[in-house]
Amino acid sequence: MTVSVLVDWLEQRAPLRLQESYDNSGLLVGDPNAVITGVLCCLDVDEEVLLEAVVRGCNVVLSHHPIIFKGLKRLTGKTVSERTVAFAVRHDIALYAGHTNWDSIAGGVSFSLSRRLGLENTKVMMPRTGELLQLVVYVPNEFAPIVAEAAFTAGAGHLGNYDECHFASVGTGTFRPLEGAMPFVGTRGTREVAHEQRLEFVVPVALKNRVQEAVWRVHPYEEVAHSWISLDNSWSDLGYGAVGDLREPVRLGDFIAHVARQLGSDAVRYSRADLDRVVKRVSVCGGSGAEFIQAAAATGADVYVTGDAKYHGFQDTPGGIVLVDVGHGESELPFIEDWAEAIRLEFVTFAVLISETNNRPVRTYLNHG
Ligand SMILES: [Zn+2]
Repeated sequence: MTVSVLVDWLEQRAPLRLQESYDNSGLLVGDPNAVITGVLCCLDVDEEVLLEAVVRGCNVVLSHHPIIFKGLKRLTGKTVSERTVAFAVRHDIALYAGHTNWDSIAGGVSFSLSRRLGLENTKVMMPRTGELLQLVVYVPNEFAPIVAEAAFTAGAGHLGNYDECHFASVGTGTFRPLEGAMPFVGTRGTREVAHEQRLEFVVPVALKNRVQEAVWRVHPYEEVAHSWISLDNSWSDLGYGAVGDLREPVRLGDFIAHVARQLGSDAVRYSRADLDRVVKRVSVCGGSGAEFIQAAAATGADVYVTGDAKYHGFQDTPGGIVLVDVGHGESELPFIEDWAEAIRLEFVTFAVLISETNNRPVRTYLNHG
């Protein structure tokens, strides 16, 4: 099993095009054709993690944060990223990062956090717009079922918990085959009237080519009359954060204790609120999500769990939502475990391990005195 097979699988689930413009996810170091001996998953990769990879027989390291982020102009060993990249090259270790593309998908970083906190009915907190297209295609009546089937199989017409969605309307089309045409029906130079159906499907941007190829393959016309239309609809499969409900309402104080326990946070900061108030709906965003508190409040959540909140972010929270800062890394660690587990379930030819190196950059001093 080569590195490229794993990379393809990862990017089918979280395509690189979903990452932010400032990000640098993907295969950063290594030969795509190398055979995988083992995979080590971590939040942050550094030399210590790479040493662990060598000792544990892994030649692929998957990290959430990209070790090459703002660009790398020299390799003199002056910074952690320079030393880490040089070490990886020397030891033939491939480095792969899955960052904001995994923050952006249902089932990604924030969904792992929500699962760890025991939330149910979890949905994307900030569904993304600009990710859906509408395909309109005109097809002779008798070919409509075949074309629809091909489109569905390629992934068109899938919305939330429904698939095979489309709309068909019956109408009349005209065309006149010109010199050089090889018409499926009709003759050159004569206007043809055809009984057709107009089929409409919703298609994710990422599946455009696949759907087009599938439909064109079974469509009888030489020139397939069609339109691709950009939709402004938001799409519940993509976007930052997650929102869900606790099975039972709990006291805020008990909820915060639960969060700290589940995530192994040394310290949890929260915005001023009565610890006896009741919490039921919870929105979360793994990593640095404090800036999305308006969206979190708009979901009707009682609490917003994220990391990296600033002093003024705790003041005057929208709608009185309680901001709970569990720590940036702590909010992302459940994802590393879920990531490893998902790869383990898919690939059986190599071991998938979770790094045991404690390279957490932030430590907490507990003031007991
Ligand atoms: Zn992060």
